[in-house]
Amino acid sequence: DRKSDPGGIAVIGLGRFGSHLAESLSALGREVLAIDRDAQQVQKWSSMLDQVAQADATDEGALRQLGLTDLPRVVVAIGASVEASVLTVLALVELGIPQIWARATSGQHAKILSSVGAHRVIFPEAETGERLAHLIISRTLDFVEFDEAFAVARVRVPRSLAGRPTSEIQLLDRYGVRVIGVKRPGENRYRYASHVLDLTEDTILIVEGTIEQIQRFAALS
Ligand code: ADP
Repeated sequence: DRKSDPGGIAVIGLGRFGSHLAESLSALGREVLAIDRDAQQVQKWSSMLDQVAQADATDEGALRQLGLTDLPRVVVAIGASVEASVLTVLALVELGIPQIWARATSGQHAKILSSVGAHRVIFPEAETGERLAHLIISRTLDFVEFDEAFAVARVRVPRSLAGRPTSEIQLLDRYGVRVIGVKRPGENRYRYASHVLDLTEDTILIVEGTIEQIQRFAALS
């Protein structure tokens, strides 16, 4: 009974993106209902995912029959066909799904999805490309961006700061970044930053700040 599982999620469209998403959700222990209109895709994924159904997701009646109205969250992972993606979101809005996540493949596609009622629009190609740019040009090891250009990043300590006592306040004053976590070489977990940071060259920091501040800090050598 899917109604009793608060975490049940449907993933519509088992292309490269949707199938990875469905697999990851399953691996995280969530019950996933995967839907594709293509018989071959359904066949291919039915051995790897718990529930796979063949249906045209633009068909509201078909979605209702699959029990989608009982699910709190549905992700539309169709990318190539903007028409199918938009019509699917419309059908889900009609069904009253509380949380509709939809994948966009362009800025225009994203705008349409929001305006027809998707609650969250994801744009994996743009998001990944942007993250990767940050990783490539600096000492940043990982990077998560939030609203208002705010970010949290994992950064290797710049050489110029290694080997001398540095206080948390100095970094905040000079670069605008706040150190949240510190992992020294040889340690296998992060600790909360203490007032005086005893930084060595291979120390890894988790810092927060605006993207510009983090980039300036991460670009130090
Ligand atoms: P990717 O870029 O992730 O590979 P695609 O857009 O190429 O994504 O693949 C989308 C998937 O969505 C395909 O497997 C396709 O069969 C499926 N799909 C497309 N339209 C519909 C629809 N109306 N109903 C259900 N599945 C659909």
